[in-house]
Amino acid sequence: MTKKPKPKRARTERRILDRTTEKLREQRTKLYALEPGGSADRPIELSSPSQVEIDAESLPCPVCGDRVRLEGPHEVEEHKGERLRVARVVCIGCRARWSRYYRLGPVLN
Ligand SMILES: [Zn+2]
Repeated sequence: MTKKPKPKRARTERRILDRTTEKLREQRTKLYALEPGGSADRPIELSSPSQVEIDAESLPCPVCGDRVRLEGPHEVEEHKGERLRVARVVCIGCRARWSRYYRLGPVLN
């Protein structure tokens, strides 16, 4: 295996990044809430509860784009008389926490 040498300016870029991270995080968190699954008002439709975990981990962190990991089995949450599935994920990069909302569609037998 060959290791790629790290570019020298990586550290400087990270410092600049840190300064803007907070603003970015704020903006992206707001945007995330408008995405499908980003809030209880916009659940993603799934046909099976077993898809919740798979889907929740399939999307990268809205802030840094790193992978996210489930914090545990998904939960059931009531919202406006509907039972929604909520998957809590945490980013392995920036450790931001996200909730993804799902509605289970009719089960086809
Ligand atoms: Zn992240």
